[in-house]
This record gives sequence, C-alpha cells and structure tokens, in this order.
Amino acid sequence: MASPTIIITGSSRGIGAATARLAARRGWSVGVNYASNQEAAHAVVAEIRAEGGRAIAVQADNSRHGDVERLFDQVAEELGPVRALVNNAGVPGRISRVEQLSEATLRRTLEVNVVGAFLCAQAFLRRASTRHGGAGGAIVNVSSMAARSGSPGELVHYAAAKAALEAFNYGLAAEVAQEGVRVNAVSLGLFATEIHATAGDADRLQRYAARMPMGRAGEPMEAAQAIVWLLSDEASYITGATLPVAGGR
Ligand code: NAP
Repeated sequence: MASPTIIITGSSRGIGAATARLAARRGWSVGVNYASNQEAAHAVVAEIRAEGGRAIAVQADNSRHGDVERLFDQVAEELGPVRALVNNAGVPGRISRVEQLSEATLRRTLEVNVVGAFLCAQAFLRRASTRHGGAGGAIVNVSSMAARSGSPGELVHYAAAKAALEAFNYGLAAEVAQEGVRVNAVSLGLFATEIHATAGDADRLQRYAARMPMGRAGEPMEAAQAIVWLLSDEASYITGATLPVAGGR
C-alpha cells in the first residue's frame, strides 16, 4: 500500500521539523510547509529522502486562504491524498505587557495561531472527511501550556490565541467525530527551539528550564513523538483531547 500523506505546517525547523522527520520514519509521505525559510525546509526534505522517505517542501502562509489551497493541492498531487494534518505553525509575537502590545503583533499572533489553524483544518476536511467523500484521517493542533498560565507580563496575546486553538480543537473534534476524522491537541511546555529568540528573549529557555518540574526543557523530538502517536491508529479512540507534553507542568 502507498504511504499515507501528511501536511505539517511550519515544519522547516523546531518541533514541526522533528515531527516531519519522525512521521517520515513511521511511513508517512510528508508535505513540509514553511513560511519563509526555504533553505531550512529543503534541508528537512533532503534528510527525509536520504533516509529513504518521501517529502516535498511547499511555501505557504497558513493564514492566507489561497496559499493553503495551493499547499493542499500540490501535496496531494505530488504525494497522494492527505490523511493527516498537524497545525504546528505558530508565532509568539514580541514579548510585551498587554498595554504595550502593538495592534499588528496582536493581529498577526491571532492570524497564524488561530485563523491559520482554521483555514488548514477547513482545507483538510473538505478533502478527507467522509462527509465530503474522503477516506477520513486525523488532525493534531499544537497548543501551549500558556493557554492555562496566561503568560502574564510576557505573552498574554499568544496565550489567548492558544486558548482559542484549544476551544477550536474540542469543538471541531465533536463536530467531525462521525466523519472519520479525529482531532486532538498537544499542550506543550518549554521546548528548545528558536521561538524564544523570535519572541525577543533568547535567554528565556535557560531561565525557565530550571523551573520546570523535570528541571529541563523538552527536545523537539519529545513533542514529535506525542504528535505522531496521536495521529496513529494506536490513538483510534482518542478525539477532542489535549495532551500535556510539558515535563510535569
Ligand atoms: P519555531 O522554531 O519558531 O518554528 C516555527 C515554524 O513555523 C517555522 O517552520 C516557520 O517557518 C513556521 N511558520 C511561522 N509562521 C508561519 C505561517 N504563517 N505559515 C506557515 N508556517 C509558518 O517554533 P517551535 O518552537 O517549533 O513551535 C512550533 C509550535 O509549537 C508552535 O505552534 C508554538 O506555538 C508551539 N509551542 C512551542 C513551544 C516551545 O517552547 N518551543 C512551547 C509551546 C508551544 P519559517 O521558518 O519558514 O518562517
């Protein structure tokens, strides 16, 4: 049987790239999506191919409807019908207190973390849901413990976006539960990626790692293992769940 196809948004680096590598090792053909870092996305594809896997890189901004449609069409055309989606693409915006937050940062944070997840899920469901003649599949939404902590003084905008993503996760899961599609989320703690530097505080990882119950940050592959498991048939009776992957938080 041909390998099933997965799209992982934001998989040019960090947790998305680890998920792409692991999914390929588990037999998925992988659509490696990225926003701007073409070189990094092609490097992930090259690594997967070097291990004998199938992958292509596709640039698409997850918050733009036209980009998302092109992403899904291109991946299906080159790799086969898409059976899984990981809504991993996320941006933290710049660290700031709420009263100092710019409107542009607020809008972009909501666009990528929330609107992008909606648009990709819509594109996926129109192709994969049994309601639309598809063969079913699974979605994993990548959330954050910030949805619960609120991230005061730093990233309240990001925390609010991830809380919206978790409500989306729960509602959508019930909406499509009888259409062959499972929808779950991972709620990630602190992971060693570039996202902290992007938020404007490269030392954040070191500072917070020691405060985690396990005394360290997670490695991207430790998030990927949970994501790929939720997508697998081993999680066949799990939908609407948000799984903490957070070293004890
Ligand atoms: P990262 O290292 O900053 O990587 C972000 C990825 O998202 C990159 O591949 C980037 O692509 C892509 N991206 C950004 N905007 C996009 C857009 N509009 N459309 C498509 N792709 C886009 O982040 P990460 O730490 O791996 O985070 C992955 C997910 O985990 C995010 O949803 C994040 O909120 C969540 N998370 C992370 C942590 C953590 O501690 N790292 C904790 C909790 C939750 P380009 O490089 O091409 O721009």
